[in-house]
Amino acid sequence: MWRALAYGTLVAGSVFGQALLNQSFYLSNGAIPRKETVQLTIDPSRETFEGSVSIDVELKGPASIIWLNAKNLTIGSASIEQGDTAHPAKIVPGSNESIGIDDGQLHAGSVTIRIAYQGRLDDKALSGPYRRKVEGEWYAYTTFAPIEARRAFPCFDEPRFKTPWDISIRVKRDHKAFSNGRQISETEEPNGWKLVTFATTEPLPAEMVAFAVGPFDVYDGGAAGHGTPVRVITAKGHAAEGHAAAQATAAILPRLEAYTGIPYAFGKLDHLALPAGAFGAVENPGLITYRTRNLLISPREAPNQETATFTRSLRALQAHEIGHQWFGNLVTQASWDDVWLSEGFATWISAKMMDQEVSPERVHLAAIAARERMMAVDYPARSRPVRIAINSRDTARDVYNRVVYEKGAAILLMLEGWLGEDRFRDGLRAYLNEHRFGNASTDDLAAALRAASGNDPSRVLNTFLNTTGVPELSGQLLCERDSAPRLRVTKSTPGSVPVCWRADRVASSCTVLEGPSTEIALPTGTACPAWFYLNSGGTGYYRTHWTRLSEAPMQALSELSGAEKLTLVYDLRVTKNASAQAALARLASDADPEISSAAREALK
Ligand SMILES: [Zn+2]
Repeated sequence: MWRALAYGTLVAGSVFGQALLNQSFYLSNGAIPRKETVQLTIDPSRETFEGSVSIDVELKGPASIIWLNAKNLTIGSASIEQGDTAHPAKIVPGSNESIGIDDGQLHAGSVTIRIAYQGRLDDKALSGPYRRKVEGEWYAYTTFAPIEARRAFPCFDEPRFKTPWDISIRVKRDHKAFSNGRQISETEEPNGWKLVTFATTEPLPAEMVAFAVGPFDVYDGGAAGHGTPVRVITAKGHAAEGHAAAQATAAILPRLEAYTGIPYAFGKLDHLALPAGAFGAVENPGLITYRTRNLLISPREAPNQETATFTRSLRALQAHEIGHQWFGNLVTQASWDDVWLSEGFATWISAKMMDQEVSPERVHLAAIAARERMMAVDYPARSRPVRIAINSRDTARDVYNRVVYEKGAAILLMLEGWLGEDRFRDGLRAYLNEHRFGNASTDDLAAALRAASGNDPSRVLNTFLNTTGVPELSGQLLCERDSAPRLRVTKSTPGSVPVCWRADRVASSCTVLEGPSTEIALPTGTACPAWFYLNSGGTGYYRTHWTRLSEAPMQALSELSGAEKLTLVYDLRVTKNASAQAALARLASDADPEISSAAREALK
C-alpha cells in the first residue's frame, strides 16, 4: 500500500440498518475457509453486478450458524452442503458487517457454502468494487484493503484467512477482464457476453483479491527477473504510456529476488492504472493497482530531468509494491495489529533497493532523512505506537497510519545495523521460507532473527513497536590513569535500545542498553580516544545529546560515513548551544549536498 491519499474516505454504516445479533469485529476461530470460488457478472455501465460464491469451510466443531463478512450485498439465495446433504440455508444479519449462514445442525468437518447475491458498483466510492468513466468509457475497479472485499463478495475478510481463489468474470465481449491469476480461458456466452476464467491463486487474504473490467489496453512488458511476465494495463488508447512502468519492473524485480533468495511467487505481474482509488498504490498479487499519475507517463523523444525524476520515483514505488510480494503477500501478518510486517518492510526494502543506485557513501541517506521526519512527530500527542489493536471499523481506518510505514522502516534499519546486514538478511530469508504462503507475527520475525543472529530482538521490538518516543542517549569517555578507558552511555528513556558505537581507533561494536546507564570497557591497551560516536552506521532510532562536544568527532569528520554525518547533523540540531552551531557550520560545507543542506537548514 502506498499512502498517497489518506485512508479514511470509506462510507460507514451497516447494511442491515438494525443489528439483530451482537457480533464482534472479528470472525470466530471455529470456521476456517479453505477455498473460495467467485463468479461475477459485470457490466461497468451498470451500477449493480451479480455474483455467486462457493466457499469450502472447515468447521472445528459442531455449529448452527457460520458467520462471514458481507457489506452492502443483497443476498438472493444461500445453501449449505455437508457430506451428501445440500439444502437451502437461512441468512441471519449480524451487526458488524457480517452475515450468518444458519443451518441449525452442522457437525465438525468440511462444509460448502453457496451464496448468490447482487452488489453495487458505486461511481463515487474509492474502495470496494467501484466504477469510473474514463474518456467516455465505463470501467470497473477494486480497492479492498483492509476491509472492503466484503462489499464485492461474502468472504472471511481477515488477513489470517488465506485461501486459494478461483475467480471467473462474465463480461461484455468487447471488454477485457483481469484478476490476480493469469487468464486460463475465455468462453463465448449468449447475448454478447463471454466468461473469462482465471487460474487458481496462491493462498491470499480476501483484501488482496482484485479485479478489473472494461475496454482496457495492455502494454506487454515482456519477462522480468526469473521469467515473470509483466504487463501494464491502461485505459483505452494509453498503452504506450506503460513503457516506463515495465522498464522499472525489469530493474526492480531481479533485485528483490536476489535479496530474498526467493523467485516472485505469483505467476504474472500486471500493473493496473486506476483513475481513482483510496491509495496511491495497492500490492494485490499479480494485479498491483496504482493511481494513473503514479504509473503512466507519455513516451518522449528524449529523456529529460522530469522523466528521470518520474522514473526514479516509479522504481521506488514499485520497489515498495513489489517488495510486498514477499513481505505482506508471500508472508502475511496474522492480524492487522502487525501490519508493520507489511508496510514497515515494504518501506524499508524500497529504500534498500534504491540504495543500490547510489554511491556507497550515500547509502542510507534517504532512509535517515525519512527517519528524521518520523522522529520529529514521534511523541504521544502527534503519533501512536507502531502496533495498536485493530478491533473496529473505526480503528481499521488507522491501519495504514504513517507511523506503521516510517517508524516500522526505521526500526528495521536499526535491527539490520545491530544484527549485521548478512545475518539480518539470512533471518529474513528464514522467516519468509518458514511462513511461505501463510501468516506470521512479530514474534515469528523475532524468532527467525534470533536464530540467524544469536541476538534476541524481542525486547527491542517491544520497546520500539509498542511505545511512542525517541530514546535519548548521551555518552562520556572515562579515561583514568592506570585503568583501561571506558565509555559511559546514559539513556534517559525506558526500554531496550541497541546502541552501536565506535571511537577513535576503536572499531564499531554494539550493546543493548537496558538500564539508565552502562559503562563499556574499551579494548585493553586502547589509549584514551580523541572522540567517540554513539550511532555507528547512523542506523539507530535514537538521539545522541552532545553534552560535551569536545568528545564529538568534529576533528575527524572524514572518518565518518555519510550516514553517520547526516545523523550527527540531526543530533546537533537539537543541541542548541554555540559549540553545536560551530560544528554545524563545518558540516554545512560537506561535499554531499544532502548533508550540507541539512546542516544549513539546522543553522537557520
Ligand atoms: Zn505498502
